[in-house]
Amino acid sequence: SWGSFVDKHVFEWSSEDEEPDGKARPVQVLVVKDDHTFELDEAALNRILLAKDLRDREIVAISVAGAFRKGKSFLMDFMLRYMYNQASEDWLGDPDVPLTGFSWRGGSERETTGIQIWSEVFLVDKPDGNKVAVLLMDTQGTFDSQSTLRDSATVFALSTMISSMQVYNISQNVQEDDLQHLQLFTEYGRLAMEETFLKPFQSMIFLVRDWSFPYEFPYGQEGGMKFLEKRLKISENQHEELQNVRKHIHSCFTNISCFLMPHPGLKVATNPHFDGRLKEIDSEFISNLKVLVPWLLSPKNLDVKEINGSKITCRGLLEYFKAYIKIYQG
Ligand code: GDP
Ligand code: MG
Repeated sequence: SWGSFVDKHVFEWSSEDEEPDGKARPVQVLVVKDDHTFELDEAALNRILLAKDLRDREIVAISVAGAFRKGKSFLMDFMLRYMYNQASEDWLGDPDVPLTGFSWRGGSERETTGIQIWSEVFLVDKPDGNKVAVLLMDTQGTFDSQSTLRDSATVFALSTMISSMQVYNISQNVQEDDLQHLQLFTEYGRLAMEETFLKPFQSMIFLVRDWSFPYEFPYGQEGGMKFLEKRLKISENQHEELQNVRKHIHSCFTNISCFLMPHPGLKVATNPHFDGRLKEIDSEFISNLKVLVPWLLSPKNLDVKEINGSKITCRGLLEYFKAYIKIYQG
């Protein structure tokens, strides 16, 4: 049977990047190479998504996307802490323990454009009794030149197509070019998908980092929603291009929301020896983290990935991922 075939082969093959200690870690599943071609690590994806207790489970796929050096991996490490300590009130843990998980660091050197996933897929019981598989993805792009913008569009499009929730991580504000990028990326995605009367994508969350106007719109989700409503508002006297970007974004996602995060403090932003311990992060940031992470990941808020209105399993997602990448490979 397929099941025993998988058990026998997939788990005995070990890819060269596998850690001998079996510890969970980030796995680069999609890389954009210097010649702008894509490489998908199918072996790694098979190993992760076709594991026996996962492959037939419905999947919740959470992606965090955006430019380099904007604190995505740093945030994802807190998401991992939450996933590993689900049952605990005190999921943030010891204030003196360094943060680990996806690698995050200071400095400004280039990193790979592509998609990393966490090798451990979490099983979570939803309040409705459904046990779902939760996959975390870290997606990075560069937006600095025409050619890298095209690469990033593909990476962003793919991650939006295969996730049930896309967290668009942006710095300081929602600028017009953030919206234009989003339009380009989602248009790229939509072109590769079957046409349907349904909106092609599920949830889009604008996560604004280093928000510095809390007196206008307070930190958090409510302030975020009010702010975003204003930014995405369509009005008659707007330039047509601005109207189109907004209409497009509204037409792509079933849910659109926004969360405004405060600055984490100078130690996080500028100290090269900072290792992620909570003690050195501004308390305002931590208190908002305590709202943000459960808002994204608590069991009742996890939405199973749907494509064309059907719920998708881990195995199904793998098939879509492979099919979509073929389209972009041309
Ligand atoms: P990524 O490339 O988007 O994954 O960014 P990283 O998570 O690797 O973080 C890059 C740098 O930004 C590190 O030095 C972090 O300490 C710092 N950082 C993390 N979160 C924030 C934030 O919310 N605001 C600011 N200003 N810096 C942050
Ligand atoms: Mg990163």
